[in-house]
Amino acid sequence: MAGIYIHIPFCKQACHYCNFHFSTSLKYKEELLAAIHKEIAIQKGFLDNAPIETIYLGGGTPSLLNQNELNALFEQIHHFHQVASNAEITIEANPDDLTTAYLNELQQTPINRLSIGIQSFSDKDLKFMNRAHNASEAQNCIQKAQAAGFENLTVDLIYGSPTTSQAQWEQNLEQVISLNVPHLSSYCLTVEPQTALAHLVKVGKAKPVDDAHAAQQFEYLQKTTEAAGFIHYEISNFAQPDCYARHNSNYWKGVPYLGLGPSAHSFNGENRQANVAHNVHYIKALTNNELDVQVEVLTPAQRYNEYVLTGLRTIWGCDLARLQAFGSDFEQHFLKNSAIFLRENKMQVQKQTYSLTKTGKLFADHIAMELFWEE
Ligand code: SF4
Repeated sequence: MAGIYIHIPFCKQACHYCNFHFSTSLKYKEELLAAIHKEIAIQKGFLDNAPIETIYLGGGTPSLLNQNELNALFEQIHHFHQVASNAEITIEANPDDLTTAYLNELQQTPINRLSIGIQSFSDKDLKFMNRAHNASEAQNCIQKAQAAGFENLTVDLIYGSPTTSQAQWEQNLEQVISLNVPHLSSYCLTVEPQTALAHLVKVGKAKPVDDAHAAQQFEYLQKTTEAAGFIHYEISNFAQPDCYARHNSNYWKGVPYLGLGPSAHSFNGENRQANVAHNVHYIKALTNNELDVQVEVLTPAQRYNEYVLTGLRTIWGCDLARLQAFGSDFEQHFLKNSAIFLRENKMQVQKQTYSLTKTGKLFADHIAMELFWEE
């Protein structure tokens, strides 16, 4: 069992908070797609013939690709891999791309799940974030997608923005819940270095994110989604029962995946590798039948740290038997450093599995860092 991720590194415009790899020029789109086709062929052995259970098109904005471009990518994947008949196949899509005509095109592809970058239903928020869509597109696209036959939907919402009042945040969540969206990913606005937002905050044109405001919205998010029957199965992900994202869940459980396209990462159970985050360099390497890639062989400490970080973020937690498999030094380090968080009711232990409590989820990064092994 394995997954495939394809990074489509193009966007209509740059969102102010974004630090992903993308270009707002579509000049090299054809060459880049041809290079991804080549990479699929070159990397065919990376997953050791494991059947593909999930395919995820992310970016960037993969909804900039048309039906023919998408189907050509799927054909190429099928040519080199055995794809499960019930595979989860997701595309990230922006609301302004989801016209009825485009949704009908997507129905002519193997895609069976949409991940829609709504972020907010408020024009004030969307303008502040410099999103390409407006509030009415955000409102209409979910129903349009459902009318076109896409029931398996997830939407992204951002909380903690200085422009998002508590009332607006409550309205955003109500909107998602009332439209019967079965899965929600919700992230705190983060001011990443070298983004337009970081510059705006620096020159005083945007307010920084207020931790107390963000925490209030996160707590409301936990409470409201729970009341609506969602399971908080990962720190930023909420799903109705049986509607977990299979692709992302597999990442968190350490299932191997192959990442294709510039800046995409891959993992085969032992090594991580990262493709060059530069469209022209990526194309150039593949034109010469080469990969521009950095390979990292993970040390035991890195593997332990990754397990702690991802385990604590999910309802599957950190299992004592898995911790023991890293060796007694790692196990003792984890037990010693988690004691304080158990006493403070930020962590809990059930059947030898350690996880975060509701309160602990507010401090997830801090707790993980305290449990990390420093080399
Ligand atoms: S659409 Fe997504 S990838 Fe593109 S700039 Fe906005 S946040 Fe970044």
